[in-house]
Amino acid sequence: MRYGPADRPGSLCYVPRLSEVIAALESLWPAERAESWDAVGTVVGDPEQEVTRVLFAVDPVQEIVDEAVKLGADLLVTHHPLYLRGTTTVAATHFKGRVVHTLIKNDIALHVAHTNADTADPGVSDALAGALDLRVVRPLVPDPTDPEGRRGLGRVCELDHPLTVRELAERAAQRLPATAQGVRVAGDAEAVVRTVAVSGGSGDSLFEDVRAAGVDVFLTADLRHHPASEAVAQSPLALLDAAHWATEWPWCELAASQLDEISDRHGWDLRVHVSKTVTDPWTAHAASTTKTAGAPN
Ligand SMILES: [Zn+2]
Repeated sequence: MRYGPADRPGSLCYVPRLSEVIAALESLWPAERAESWDAVGTVVGDPEQEVTRVLFAVDPVQEIVDEAVKLGADLLVTHHPLYLRGTTTVAATHFKGRVVHTLIKNDIALHVAHTNADTADPGVSDALAGALDLRVVRPLVPDPTDPEGRRGLGRVCELDHPLTVRELAERAAQRLPATAQGVRVAGDAEAVVRTVAVSGGSGDSLFEDVRAAGVDVFLTADLRHHPASEAVAQSPLALLDAAHWATEWPWCELAASQLDEISDRHGWDLRVHVSKTVTDPWTAHAASTTKTAGAPN
């Protein structure tokens, strides 16, 4: 326990232990609300260690861990798990093992909030909707264990003023962090949009729910050829496909502000940061130069 940080003389700030910060994170995203296949919670960390600086990021990759070291962070909170399927080794010869080694050598804890953050209220898709100024109406797939019907996967949203699909795609490209992919559009780009379903991360499995919601547009990531072309052929639905990382990054800012608020309430001496490092695996984009790729002009 340490009171009165040097840069705030006279203030009665309290440096929390990792266990206290984890309890705060668990109050926002309880581990038991994660999917059964998921791997959430604390991956690395000593509950007794002090935490003065926290970094939020989407991916627990080496670049992000190096950033945490540079920043002097004591805790890294990521959306994606480090080990989703378990492991038998953390040897530094493997890239994930190297992440573990770097974290432990630098006294940095790692905590994961994945599907428990997706379905939270507010959660990943609320942050995505907020980035685009969409008004959230309800979850796309409500969590049956939530009597208030506020938690669940994805969100059904309304626009205050109708836009065309093209205008909404342009807004998404401007408001979401820049990636090589940008935003791809399927369907009629000039159609009018009043309602939008959003789902941060891979939304490929949600087409039935999107159709049932009767929205004009579905904004998500990782859409594949067959489900996308079938969805567009069966209904006037348009699709916006952004980079997976970009659709989840707004959650980092939301999550950081939620932890900041808890920290203020407790009078903690805690600084909360959001990584701006792009960890989307796609790093370049070449636009087609012929009308039909491969066909002679
Ligand atoms: Zn994801």
